[in-house]
Amino acid sequence: MPAVERVLSSPAAQPLMGAYGHTQVVDAIRAAADALRRELLAGAVFDASFSFETKLVDDAARLLAVRARAHLRPVFNLTGTVLHTNLGRALLPDEAVRAVVEALTRPVNLEFDLTTGGRGDRDDLIEELICELTGAEAATVVNNNAAAVLLTLSALASKQEVVVSRGELVEIGGAFRIPDIMSRAGAKLREIGTTNRTHLKDYDEAIGARTALLMKVHCSNYAIEGFTKSVSVDEVARLAHMRGLPMAVDLGSGTLVDLAQYGLPTEPTVRETVGAGADLVTFSGDKLLGGPQAGLVVGRAELIRKIRKHPLKRALRVGKLTLAALEPVLQLYRAPELLRERLTTLRLLTRPAAEMHAQALRLQGVLERALGQAYSVTAEPMASQIGSGAFPVDQLPSFGLVVRNAAGKRGGRALMKLEAALRALPRPVIGRIADDALRLDLRCLEAADEAAFAAQCAELRI
Ligand SMILES: *Cc1c(COP(=O)(O)O)cnc(C)c1O
Repeated sequence: MPAVERVLSSPAAQPLMGAYGHTQVVDAIRAAADALRRELLAGAVFDASFSFETKLVDDAARLLAVRARAHLRPVFNLTGTVLHTNLGRALLPDEAVRAVVEALTRPVNLEFDLTTGGRGDRDDLIEELICELTGAEAATVVNNNAAAVLLTLSALASKQEVVVSRGELVEIGGAFRIPDIMSRAGAKLREIGTTNRTHLKDYDEAIGARTALLMKVHCSNYAIEGFTKSVSVDEVARLAHMRGLPMAVDLGSGTLVDLAQYGLPTEPTVRETVGAGADLVTFSGDKLLGGPQAGLVVGRAELIRKIRKHPLKRALRVGKLTLAALEPVLQLYRAPELLRERLTTLRLLTRPAAEMHAQALRLQGVLERALGQAYSVTAEPMASQIGSGAFPVDQLPSFGLVVRNAAGKRGGRALMKLEAALRALPRPVIGRIADDALRLDLRCLEAADEAAFAAQCAELRI
C-alpha cells in the first residue's frame, strides 16, 4: 500500500486537489486506503497490472463526489400534483430567476431609499404593485402564509377573541391548524356554528366586549357537501363593520386573477375578497400566485401599519431573494392575456391534454425499453390536481404513463422496487402508486425537460 503522500503527489490526484482542496483529498485517500486494506485482509487478490495508486485516487474521487452532492436536488415531479408542497410548490418564471441571481451577486436597495438617500422599508419595494393588483390600500409581506396569519392575529387580537366558524377550523398539511395558530398568537378562538352549517346570527351572537376580529378561513384542502350553509365574506364584513370590528380572511391559495378565463375552476380572487369588505386578506406567494414562498397581507392601511409595527414582523420578514423573485412574478399579472404562457404555474395547470397525450406516446417506448419484459407500459388519461389546497375536489384532465406488472400479476412489491429505482436516478423521478400501477403524470414534464427524462431512463437499475 503506497503512502498517502505518494498518492497525493501522483498526477492523477492533482485535479482532485484543485476541486476539493488538500484537506478533503487527504481524508478521502485515507478512507479509500482503509477500505482497500480491509479488502486485502479479507483475502482479495489483484493481478499484476493492478495499480494501488490509480485505485486509491479513483475511490477517493468517488467518495468526494458523493460527499459534495447537494442534498436539495432537482427531481421530476410526475405526481400529477402541480403545487406539490413536498416538492417545493410553484416553479418560478425566468424573470424571477434572473432577478434572484442579481440580488444574490450584487448589492441591492433592500432598505435604502434611492430618492432621499435615507433608510427605506423593504415593504415599499412591492407594496404599490400588490395594491394595484388587489385593490387594497396597503400590503406587507412575510415568510409564508402561516406567518401572515400568526402575525395578523398577534397584532390585532392578542388577549382578545376571534370569531371563526366551526366549518373553517382547518388543518393544512405540516401542522398548520387554525386553533393552534390562534393560541400561539395569544388570541382566544370563539368557535361558532357547526361543522356543516353556520349562520350570520351565529357571528352576531358571538360578538362581545372581548371580540377583536371576525375571521373567515378558506377550506383549502377539503369540501363539505350536502346540507351546508356558510356566510359570505360580504355578509360577515358588513356585520363586523356594523359592530365596529375588523374582518379578516385567510384565503390560503389566493389567486390574483379569475382563473375561469383560463378554463380552470373559479376561486375567489384577492381583489373580490377585498372588494367584498374584508379589512385584511392573507394568502401564500407560492401557491396559485406562482411566486416564491411568502405570505402576503393586504388590506386597510391603518391595520397594516399596526401589523408592521408588531415585533414579530421583524422575526417573520422576508429576505431579499424573496422580494427579488416576487416583484417580477407580480409584474406578469399586469398582462393577464399573456399570463398563461409566462407564469409557469398557470402554464402547467392549463397544459392541453392532447400535448401530454402526444408526449406520453413519445415516451412510452423509451420507458418500455428501459424496463424490459417484466413490466408493461401504457399511455393513459389521468387526473392531475392543482395541489396546496386549491380546489381539493376538482381534477384536471391529464395524460401520463402507467406501469404495471407484465402478465397481469399483482405488482405491489415489484412496483415499490420500481418506484425506488426511479427515485435513485441522478435526477429522481417521483411518481405515485395507485390501483396496482405506478403512474407517471406528464403534466409537469415540460418540453425543455423531456429529453433529459428520456435519456435518464436508460440508467434505470431494477
Ligand atoms: C396553505 C394555507 C396556509 C399556509 O400557507 P403557507 O404559505 O404554506 O404557510 C394557511 N391557510 C390556508 C387556508 C392555506 O390554504
